[in-house]
Formats: sequence, structure tokens, C-alpha cells
Amino acid sequence: MEKLINVTRSSLPEFEEFCREIAPIWESRWLTNMGEKHKALQKALEERMDVPHVTLYTNGHLALENMIEALSLKGEIITTPYTFASTTHAIVRCGCTPVFCDVNEDDYTMDVTKIESLITDKTVAIMPVHVYGSLCDTDAIADIAKKHGLYVLYDAAHAFGVKKDGVDAGCFGDVSMFSFHATKVFNTIEGGALCYANDGLVTRLNDIKNFGIHGPESVQYVGGNAKMNEFCAAMGLCNLRHLDEEIAKRKIASDRYDGHLSGVAGLRLRQPQKGVSPNYAYYPVIFDGYKYSRDQVFEKLAAENIIARKYFYPITNSFDCYKGLEGFDPDATPVAKRLSENVLTLPMYAGLSVEEVDEICRIILE
Ligand SMILES: *Cc1c(COP(=O)(O)O)cnc(C)c1O
Repeated sequence: MEKLINVTRSSLPEFEEFCREIAPIWESRWLTNMGEKHKALQKALEERMDVPHVTLYTNGHLALENMIEALSLKGEIITTPYTFASTTHAIVRCGCTPVFCDVNEDDYTMDVTKIESLITDKTVAIMPVHVYGSLCDTDAIADIAKKHGLYVLYDAAHAFGVKKDGVDAGCFGDVSMFSFHATKVFNTIEGGALCYANDGLVTRLNDIKNFGIHGPESVQYVGGNAKMNEFCAAMGLCNLRHLDEEIAKRKIASDRYDGHLSGVAGLRLRQPQKGVSPNYAYYPVIFDGYKYSRDQVFEKLAAENIIARKYFYPITNSFDCYKGLEGFDPDATPVAKRLSENVLTLPMYAGLSVEEVDEICRIILE
């Protein structure tokens, strides 16, 4: 193809719509520090997700770190290696120890049958990931956490807009983190949020994201800086208006892929989850005994200017920065390891045309 098709393309509102949204910032000269746009986006998200509290961040990663800090967690956190670097790094950077649970073959989320054997007297929390927007087995995880007195902290970076039986993905566990990075289904350029019900966390989180400053003359915590600025919040307000439309467009592309690729020997596609309305964030394909390997398909597509992504590869427990450290062993999570060696996420975004999907599939199948 002449034109480059990238694995993703950021959603943007009409230029004029964004200009209208940011015009008041020129009048107020209030650029950051919880201004009007910040307040409006926070409220809009609380309403849309029907969650008691949303705290906004400069990005999803700092939201994760601030969450661990706010709960004063010290010890082991059960998580999975089949995720973006951020999940594992946040745990390690906050001085906790990640304990890796394998994922299941069906939706690539945490294998709930393997959690309990990993719990020790040092375990403080479970941090599962709603991989590709597929929801974890939230009921089973809640039961295990309750039985052992553990926090459940979801990395919901992929799951914005997903609902299960009408309940928003932000409502599960003690806290859920969303990323609003440019490549996500809903973006604020860079940004993120924590969603939670615990009233006691509101002030603490707000303080920690602003240097621990609690009042004009009171600094309560050794906090950092993770505030979302007004321009990012304004982008969020614009993009939120079009979110349902964007997800509907993604569905058209996703259905088109399904039409070409389902039932093909050696290709494994993600199965729909019961009761879940998806956000079509990614289109992962597992090349499992297919006539071409994952890497061959990646190269064939690249030769035609189509950029797929080996996502997640490598898995986090095999990163160079963790080599040789105790507990970081990709062979201990064989399902995640195999998936990572055989997965490609194909181009997926709201503006991807059915003709482009046809072309991508032709190259994969020929
Ligand atoms: C994007 C992402 C993050 C980090 O979010 P940023 O907003 O980029 O900091 C964390 N976890 C997962 C699974 C992600 O995909």
C-alpha cells in the first residue's frame, strides 16, 4: 500500500471544537492546578462511569504509583507479566515486590485458579490487568481478596468505556486506573485517572498529586506532581462527546476482521465475554500453528507499509532491567510467555476503513 497504516491513530475532535473548548483558558489564564476544565472533566467522568470518585492525573502511570503510595502498600503485589511495562514498573518503583501470576488462555487476563497459591504473609494486594479491554474475572478476584484481606487494584488502562452487565469497568475492585494516553480509546493527549468508592482516599490522593500540599500553609505528605493540566482536560471534554461514536466505528473494523479471520486454521481470535459490552481497543491475533509465524506476518505487513504491534512482547518478567532478579522468570508464567511469542495486535482505530481491513487480511491470508 502507498499509505502507511499504523497500529493506531489518535482520536481528535474537530479543530474548531477544541478551539471553542480552550478559549476560556485565554480569559482566565488558569492553565493548571485543578481549574475549570479539570473540574468539569472529573465530574463528567464520575457521571459517565457512575463511580463515586474520579481523580485525574498527568498520565496513567503516575496514577498507578500514586495509588500504591496513597494506600501505603509495602510487600508483595500479585500481578501478571502480560501487560505494558507500566504495571510492573509502578509496583517496583514504589518499593513493592511483584509476584507474577500466569494468565488464562481465553481472554489473557489473570488466571484466577492460580492466585491463591501465590499468596504469602507478605501479600498486600492483587493488581490484575483488563488486557485489551477484556475484563478480568472480577467476581472470583473479589472473593479471593475478601477471604485473604487484600486490596484489589485494577490496571484498567485498556478498558475505558467497557461495561459488564451495565456496570462500568471503573467500578470493580478498590481502585481502578485508566490511561488517557494518545493511543488509548479515550485520550486527553496524556492523562490518566483513578476511580474508587472510598471517600477517605479523595483528599489523600489530591494532596499526593500536588506535592503533599494540603492547604496554603500545610504540607501533609512527601508528595510529587501528577496534576492534569487544563489543555489536556479540555481535550478530554471534547473527546468524551464523541466516544460512543468512536467505539461504534471501531466495532465496524473489528467485525470486518472477524469476518475474514475467524475460523481460519492456526489463528486464534479473542472470544466475546458474556454480558460485556467491549470498547474494541485492540485487535489481537494469536498465530498458533498458522502457516506463517507471528514474526513472518509482522514482516509481510511491514513490507506493505502496515505496522502491527507485538503487544505484549517481551513480557515484563523477562525485561532486561529485571534479568537475574529473583521472581522474574518468564518460564514460571508459560501461558503468558507463549502468548507473547505468538501475538500481534493488528491496526485498530476509529478511522480504519473496511477496505483497509480487507487489505490487511488479504496480506495475512494469502
Ligand atoms: C497505557 C498503559 C499504562 C500507562 O498509561 P500512561 O498513561 O501511558 O502512563 C499502564 N498500563 C497499561 C496496561 C497500559 O496499556
